[in-house]
Amino acid sequence: MIAWFVITTLLGYYLLDCTAKFLNLRGLRQEVPKEFQDVYDADRFRRSKEYTRLNTQFDLVTSTIELGILLLFWAIGGFEELDRSVSKFHFQPVTNGLIYFAILAAGQAALMLPFRIYHTFVIEQRFGFNRTTIKTFVADRLKEWLIAGIVTGLLAFVVLSLFQAFGLHAWLICWICTAVISVILVYIAPTVFLPLFFKTSAVPEGPLREGVTELAARENFPIRELLVIDGSRRSSKANAFFTGFGSNKRIALYDTLINTHTVPELLAVLAHEVGHYKKHHIFRHFVYGQFNLLLLFLGASVCITRPELFTAFGVTNRSYYVGLVLYLILIQPLSALFGVLGNYLSRRDEFEADRFAAETIGDPNPLITALKRLSKESLSNLTPHPLLVSLHFTHPPVLERVLALRKLE
Ligand SMILES: [Zn+2]
Repeated sequence: MIAWFVITTLLGYYLLDCTAKFLNLRGLRQEVPKEFQDVYDADRFRRSKEYTRLNTQFDLVTSTIELGILLLFWAIGGFEELDRSVSKFHFQPVTNGLIYFAILAAGQAALMLPFRIYHTFVIEQRFGFNRTTIKTFVADRLKEWLIAGIVTGLLAFVVLSLFQAFGLHAWLICWICTAVISVILVYIAPTVFLPLFFKTSAVPEGPLREGVTELAARENFPIRELLVIDGSRRSSKANAFFTGFGSNKRIALYDTLINTHTVPELLAVLAHEVGHYKKHHIFRHFVYGQFNLLLLFLGASVCITRPELFTAFGVTNRSYYVGLVLYLILIQPLSALFGVLGNYLSRRDEFEADRFAAETIGDPNPLITALKRLSKESLSNLTPHPLLVSLHFTHPPVLERVLALRKLE
């Protein structure tokens, strides 16, 4: 019964996702939308459609293989076999759990590695975006796996130890502990994690720096530091983001953004990021994440020891750690639904931050030209299908953002 429920919902979501991608490909327009005719010539538009096509096909192949491997692993009794192999060492249950998680995570990372290589060195390369050397790629993956290993290892250790000590009543204290750990991680992110991947420097003296200081003072935005990071070492694509919180918050600008945009455009992008802070998006996003986590643990307390769950996946020994893994597979489609709601809220926030930027600068045009330049440089799909947008997009399609900004003129 549970097995059928899981298979049906997993396949249901997969088919919905495939449908969205097919509709997206079919909806690629013949001519450039009027608003973008000044930045997309015929050749660039053709390349942007080709880029969308290749990426969509790539995503289709990846998600098919991912689901296929999960179902195959389940069908050959992988969850049970792995648990038996781990149990042979007669460690404590928490140690067994950490080894069980580590093997599954390593397997997944190894499986996805060829796809990441293909994406960076074939697709991104072909369109002239890739600047990652093999050395940087290898170093990035090692650092990424190390950080993921330490962070998820720590979280898994805390959660499993608590379940082991308090049984199913542990859900609330599990949530409190993971909430505290995630607050610490977000706080230290700009000073600990960011420098591991990027060389950071301060914005040099000049009109940009003056503009930023003036903007921060006017908006009463106590920014700790405005960082420039060397994104150009990996990709020619440009970006800007907000990181950290409280007294440790920073805005990071890619050097690629600074090199390709005018000072008014850069100030508009910064004002957008400040808008996320002033309109409490960062805080709301965090609360939404913590609320999801609370529901996740509450659900876990109901599900992870249910015999039906273990029977469905062919596992005989009912441990907390295997229960947690199976529970996460069981709720995958539900997490996807929460993702759809989260994406919707995030897109709404993007419109609000755009509006904030336009009002702060007193003119929507610098942000409009910045958005158009960004999509031109990254060959964005100008007309993604609404179903694909609702499933995966945290940012509204750029054409919608520009049209919303035009209304403010
Ligand atoms: Zn934003």
